[in-house]
Amino acid sequence: MFWIGCHLSAAKGYLAMGQEAERLGANVFQFFTRNPRGGSVKALDMTDIEAFIAFAAEKKFGTLLAHGPYTLNPCAAREDLREFARNTMKEDLARLELLPDVMFNFHPGSHVKQGEEVGIALIADTLNHILSDGGKTPVLLETMAGKGSEIGRNFEQLRAIMDKTEQQERLGICLDTCHVFDGGYDILGDLEGVLQEFDRIIGLERLKAIHLNDSKNPMGSHKDRHEKIGEGTLGLTGIEGVINHPKLRHLPFYLETPNEAEGYAREIALLRRMRKEK
Ligand code: FE
Ligand code: FE
Ligand code: ZN
Repeated sequence: MFWIGCHLSAAKGYLAMGQEAERLGANVFQFFTRNPRGGSVKALDMTDIEAFIAFAAEKKFGTLLAHGPYTLNPCAAREDLREFARNTMKEDLARLELLPDVMFNFHPGSHVKQGEEVGIALIADTLNHILSDGGKTPVLLETMAGKGSEIGRNFEQLRAIMDKTEQQERLGICLDTCHVFDGGYDILGDLEGVLQEFDRIIGLERLKAIHLNDSKNPMGSHKDRHEKIGEGTLGLTGIEGVINHPKLRHLPFYLETPNEAEGYAREIALLRRMRKEK
């Protein structure tokens, strides 16, 4: 099965997202757990959730990806900001428990002059706190472009966070193709080599999702500017390599390209044509 979808707005609820995904040719999708800048959430609508669960089962949807607000900083220098990140993520995870097949993805954070070692320790503290709730939702750390003091700019930093976390079996990685290329990993020229490095440092069994994005900038630029599929520095060659690689093709792919709905529909159709039969 080719699990392909895109980022959708959660404003109209789960069933509306499912119907929109189907209309765009997707069988998975990503959404923000709340306003990406943080803020409060609407009360859960159980009727909507149940209708979505039935819809997703009927249409044979794959695993959804819930993205935490990107302004949270689990390794902020101020304790009140870290506490806000912890509480928000914990509340998000509690709400996601109602969905049968979803993973939670978040940006590890920025160490803001505290240094990477302190940042890594604080992120692990946050994870130990939020994973203590006994839930089932897998929690994914996203590979980052390494803008500013972002943690997650290389595989070693992600490994170090996981090593300090108690409930490692619930942890996974979401690999963002724009971010890793920006981080200096040559997924265009040597994808196999990059995946071998990932396997050696983190373990490929921990890789649970792909954010499928082209990049506006050359490899190693640490800028984090997504581009439409085929229009960036990865190009169709790079993207085609990723979606067809034997070690990746079973994973769900989520587009986060600069597109409106119709642009996403075109990209999904294009990717379906680029996907090779086994
Ligand atoms: Fe992200
Ligand atoms: Fe991403
Ligand atoms: Zn990004």
